[in-house]
Amino acid sequence: MITMHLVDKMARIGVESAFDVLVKARALEAQGKSIIHLEIGEPDFPTPRNVVEAGQRALGEGWTKYGPTQGLPELRQSIASYISRTRGIKVGPQNVCVVPGGKPVMFFTIIALLQEGDEAIFPDPGFPIFESMIRFQGAKPVPIPLRESRGFSLDVNELRDLITDRTKLIILNSPHNPTGGIIPAGDIKQIADILRDRDIMVLSDEIYSRITYDDPPGYKGTPTSIASMDGMLEKTIILDGFSKTYSMTGWRLGYGVMPEWLAEAVVKLMVNSNSCTASFTQRAGIEALDGPQDSVDTMVAEFKRRRDAIVKGLNSIPGFRCPVPAGAFYVFPNVEGTGMDSKALADYLLYEGGVACLDGKCFGAQGDGYLRLSYASSFENILEAVERIRRVSSKWTAK
Ligand code: PMP
Repeated sequence: MITMHLVDKMARIGVESAFDVLVKARALEAQGKSIIHLEIGEPDFPTPRNVVEAGQRALGEGWTKYGPTQGLPELRQSIASYISRTRGIKVGPQNVCVVPGGKPVMFFTIIALLQEGDEAIFPDPGFPIFESMIRFQGAKPVPIPLRESRGFSLDVNELRDLITDRTKLIILNSPHNPTGGIIPAGDIKQIADILRDRDIMVLSDEIYSRITYDDPPGYKGTPTSIASMDGMLEKTIILDGFSKTYSMTGWRLGYGVMPEWLAEAVVKLMVNSNSCTASFTQRAGIEALDGPQDSVDTMVAEFKRRRDAIVKGLNSIPGFRCPVPAGAFYVFPNVEGTGMDSKALADYLLYEGGVACLDGKCFGAQGDGYLRLSYASSFENILEAVERIRRVSSKWTAK
C-alpha cells in the first residue's frame, strides 16, 4: 500500500475559525433555522458603484491577461501616493507589492523574514493567521497580551521585556481585529524608540485604517502608522488593502508597502505562486483610491451608528460588559459575568439563540472570557441579535 505524507510543518499551520462557524451556521440555516451572522469580518455594503464600473470597463478593455508580478505600475503609483499622503511618509511604487488580498502580505513577508530559532511577537488576542504563519515557519510565537483595561492596546513596557536577541519581527494591528482597539500615537512613538536601533522588522497591519470613529475622547482621525516615526520606514511593512475600506473582500486585492530589498523577495514568492494579481481588479483598485471617497464616509458613519447600538444593547444584557471600540467593525464584550465558558456561550448563542459569533479564544488565550461580534450587518439585524441574546439569557441569569 502506498502511504502519502504531508510535510511536518503542515501540522503547525492553523486555520481561521470564522470560516468554520460560518459553515456551522449555514448548516443550521439549511435545516430551516434563522441565524443572524455576526461571525464574519466583511462589510455588508456592496462594492461602490464607480469601482464596480471600473472593473467592468477593464474587462471590456481587455485587462484580462498577465500583468507585472509586482502589480500594475499605475496602481502601485496610486498606492504609493495614497500611503504617502495618509501616513505622512514618502514611498514610491518600488516599495509597493500588489497581491491578492491583505493576507498574502502576511504569508509572503513572514516566509521571507522568519526561520527556525527566530522569535516573533504578535498580539493576543489577534488575527489567528499571524501565529499560524509564525509557527509554520518554525519560529517561536511570542504573544503580547492586549488587555481590556488598556483599551486593548499593548503595554509598551511588557513589549520591551519580551524582546530578545532572537526577536526578528513584531506584528502590530491597529485598528485591531478582534477588539477594535487602536494603539495611541504616544505608544507608537515609544515602540519606535525601542525598535529604532534594533534589527527587528515590524509588520504593521493597517487594513482597518479608514474605519475609525472620532471617539473615545482623546482619539481623533487616522491611527498613527509606526512607519511615520523617525528611522522606522526602513523597518516597516505596511499591510493594507481594498477588502474592508471599499467592501471588496471577494475581489482579492491588497498590498504591502516595504523596503525595496523585501519587495524583491515578495516578488519572487509571488512569481512562484500567483504570477500576478488579476489585472482587471487592479484597474478597479485605481478607481477605488483615486475616485470619489463618499461611499467610504457613508459606510463608516453607518458602522458608527451600529457600533453605538450594539454596545448599548449588549451592555443591557446581564453578564455582558462591552467596551466602546475606537475602530474596525467588531465589538469584544467581556462575558465572564455569565458564568459560562466563552466557547460554550458562543455555541449556545448559535444553536439556541440563532446568533452566530466567535469565542474570543479563537484569537488567542487572552480572548478567553470574551466574544467577538461583527457589526458589519444591518442595523435591524443588530437589534434583533441583541434581542435574541436577551431572550436566551435566562440560561445564565436564572442560576
Ligand atoms: N488583517 C486583518 C487584521 C484582518 O482582519 C483581515 C481580514 N479579516 C485581513 C488582514 C485580511 O484581509 P484580506 O481579506 O484582504 O486578505
